[in-house]
Formats: sequence, structure tokens, C-alpha cells
Amino acid sequence: MTLPFTSFNDVRPEVATFESYEPGLSIAEIAERYGLSRVVKMASNENPLGVSPRVREVIAHCAGEAFRYPQSGNPRLVKALASYYGVDPKRIFVGNGSDEVIDLLFRVRAVPGVHNAVVFRPCFGLYPTQAKMAGVELRQAPLNPDFTFDFDGLLKLVDENTTLVIVTSPDNPSGRVASPDDLEKLARALPPACLLVVDEAYIEFAGSEHSVMSRLDSLPNVAVMRTFSKVYGLAGLRIGYAVLPPVIADYMWRVRLPFSLNILAEEAAIAALADAEFRESTIALVQRGRARLTEELRAMGCEVTPSLSNFIMFRLPEGSVDAKTLHGELLKRGVIIRALGSYHLPDRLRVSMGTDEENELFLRLVREILGA
Ligand SMILES: *Cc1c(COP(=O)(O)O)cnc(C)c1O
Repeated sequence: MTLPFTSFNDVRPEVATFESYEPGLSIAEIAERYGLSRVVKMASNENPLGVSPRVREVIAHCAGEAFRYPQSGNPRLVKALASYYGVDPKRIFVGNGSDEVIDLLFRVRAVPGVHNAVVFRPCFGLYPTQAKMAGVELRQAPLNPDFTFDFDGLLKLVDENTTLVIVTSPDNPSGRVASPDDLEKLARALPPACLLVVDEAYIEFAGSEHSVMSRLDSLPNVAVMRTFSKVYGLAGLRIGYAVLPPVIADYMWRVRLPFSLNILAEEAAIAALADAEFRESTIALVQRGRARLTEELRAMGCEVTPSLSNFIMFRLPEGSVDAKTLHGELLKRGVIIRALGSYHLPDRLRVSMGTDEENELFLRLVREILGA
């Protein structure tokens, strides 16, 4: 079906249904609005330690190279990732954040109007938007009420035209982890033309035993996607990657914009991967905070979903203020957390782990607001 355009303002029908992205208030805006000298952001699952000092040095050192185009195909980063994971470099694809990897997966793996992709509901916001932009039908299987994964329900939505299934583990916003055994079972149950992508953006906070990475050799239809935005503290530089079947990786490289990963991002990623100390400190801090916040929020009567990620999702006790009120009262006091309206979970909130001091501040303010 082709629709005639009648005006130079006409756009593709998929594009016409897009709403403009509504960013949350920035730290500066909140500081000004409420007259605060300090605002703590615990809303975007960023690294509480910021940028590693070693990576910062490398970025500064490479600043003078910024006039050059990056090497197409980012071979140095590909090699570093391949050796870090002990996989064939032909399987590695690197993009401008996982966002670009997700976008290209839909466009490479699905014929618009013919193929479909299947994910859970609720899911990461990028899956529906990029599926839509690609003209690909996205089917969503509800998670169980406790946010565990209903793989039977997911499989029921898969048919011979399903060419992509994406599962996020640990999941966002719940923090739940899918068992690698269940993911393996799912992979084996999928039709031959279907690729299972496991989005492991937060896996470092759970531990490698929860990853499917080590099973890729025996599961040819499975790919793993990861990012430098979380445990490596480089969300602003935009670096994501995937370990894919080699043929798919090759096509992804062919269609990727040649220089989408910039030269400073590439150097920073290589340095970050080698900085085990920063990675380990981040993981230790997050795991400590997660245990503390889970315990303390539960002590206040909150329902906390067990998380193996760098954030936790919780619901306030019945009879207390509602989620929106807590969110607003925290803002007034200079702490930004994530309301989950866009995930259609209006009675739940998500808080990213901060430093020990930020975590204590958050707990103290929640106690104060709840009168607990
Ligand atoms: C944060 C996050 C990512 C990472 O996205 P980038 O584009 O690499 O910053 C990927 N998947 C999920 C589910 C996430 O929450």
C-alpha cells in the first residue's frame, strides 16, 4: 500500500503517530524551581561513581584526535571486546549506544509489514519506538504479576513470521533476572528463522552466572546485547555492543552509519573495559546499596521487587501517600527518582542506586515523607 503525499509537510504514517520526547526536568531546573543548592539524580540508572579517573585521563589525552574521523568498523574496540569475552571478533557489533543496536536489529532482521517481533510488557521504551520506525509489528506478552517472565505466554505470540525476540535480563524497570536455563529452553523452542536477543545492559550487577554469554557457542540463534552506559559509567558517550551470529553482525556493520561511534567514545570504551578496579568498585557499591534500600524500604512497609540490577522498583504501603506524591515531595527536597507512568505502572517507582551517602539521604527523605 502506498499513500500519496499531497504536501511537502507529509511524513510516513509511522512518523506521524510519534509524540515528541518529554524529558524530565534537569538537575539545574529542579535546583532553580525549588531553590536548592544540591540535587541528587537517582532516576536514570547511571553510575553513582561517575566516570572512572583512568577513563577521564584517556578522554583528555585523546582530545587532540577529535579532528580525525574514527576508524570505520571500530576495529580496536571490537578486538578488545572479542578478547575480553573470548569470542570471535566477527561476532561483535558496536553502535552508538544499545539504542543504535536495537534500532538496527529491527531494520536488519524484519521485513516491514511481513515479519513481527515479540517482547514482554512492560518493556524498555526503545523497543516499541524503533519497531514502529522500522514498520515492524511488535507483539507484547505480559510479564507475570510479580514481574517474573512468562515464557509460555511469550511463545504463544511467536509464529513463523517472528524473526526477533528480545528479553531484557535483568529487566527494566523490575530488576528481575531470567534464568539462563529458561532462556536456553526458549531459544530451542523458537522457529528456525527467529533470533533471540538477550538485552544484558545490567548483567554486571547480577553476576556472570546469570548471563547467557557463555552458552552462545551451543545456541546459534541467540545474541547478547550490552552497554557501556551503566557499569562503565559512560552513558553520555553512547557506546553499546552485541555478540551476534557472525552473518548478522556482518550485515549490521554494512548498514550502520560508518562513523556512528565517535573517536573519544571508542578510546574511552577500550580504557573502561581494562579498568577492572572501577568496575568492581561500582558493582560492590551497587550491591551494597541494593541490599540496604531493599531492606529499609521493606521495613517501611513498601513492596520491593527483588532486584539484581542497579535500581530497585517499589510500591508504597497501602494507606500512605501515593507514588506521584512521593515522587513530587522528593523532587522538592532535591532527589529525582523515576515515576513509572510511561511503563503503565503508575503506583510504582524506580530508584537507581547512588553513593552510600545519596542512598541514606533518599531513605531519610522517604521516611520523613511517609511519616514512618
Ligand atoms: C539503559 C538500558 C540500555 C542501554 O542503552 P544505551 O543506549 O546503551 O545507553 C539498554 N537496554 C535497557 C533495557 C536499558 O535500560
